[in-house]
Amino acid sequence: MSQATLILIKPDGLKKSLTGNILTRLSETKLEIVAAKMKRVSKELAQEHYKHLKDKPFFPELIKYILGELHDRRKVMALVYWGKDAITKCRELAGSTNPEEADSTSIRGSYGRITTSGVYENVVHVSSDAAEAEREIKLWFEPEEIIVDLYPSKEIAVKEQKKKVWA
Ligand code: UDP
Ligand code: MG
Repeated sequence: MSQATLILIKPDGLKKSLTGNILTRLSETKLEIVAAKMKRVSKELAQEHYKHLKDKPFFPELIKYILGELHDRRKVMALVYWGKDAITKCRELAGSTNPEEADSTSIRGSYGRITTSGVYENVVHVSSDAAEAEREIKLWFEPEEIIVDLYPSKEIAVKEQKKKVWA
C-alpha cells in the first residue's frame, strides 16, 4: 500500500553535515520524494509536533533541541517520502529512538548520541504510523508544497493577506 511519511533532518544532523549521507541512505528505499524544504521551526510548531511527549521530563530540552538551540542551527530539513510501505521502510532505516539501542548500521545507530541532559540526539525524525504521518505532514506542509494529492484539500479565498514577493 502506498504511504507517505514525514522525515526531518534534525539540527544535529544538519550541524554534523549529514544531509547528503542521510538522503543517500533513504534512497535505498526507492521511495519518491514528493516534498522538501528547509524550515525554521517556531516554538508552536515544535510543541505541536511533539505534543504526545509534553508530560515527559525531557520535553523542555527536546523542544530546545528541535528548535536548534542546542546546535546553533535554527532550522530543519523537512521531506515527505511516498511509496509502498514508506513508513516501515523509513523507520527501519532510521533505527530505534534510543541511538544506543539502535542497530549500529541504522542512521540513528551510526550518528546519534545521548546528551548528558538525557535527550536522544538521533539526527532524524520519521513518522511512526499512518495516522501520525498524516497529522505531521499537514502540520509541516501546505497542500501546494506537495507534488501529489496525498489528502483531500479545498480552495478558499484569502483576502488582504500579506505575502512576500520578489522586489
Ligand atoms: N526522546 C528522548 N528521550 C526519550 C524519548 C524520546 O530524548 O526517552 C526524543 C528523541 O529525540 C525522539 C523524540 O524525543 O526522537 C520523539 O520521541 P518518540 O517517542 O516519538 O520517538 P521517535 O518516533 O522519534 O522514534
Ligand atoms: Mg515519534
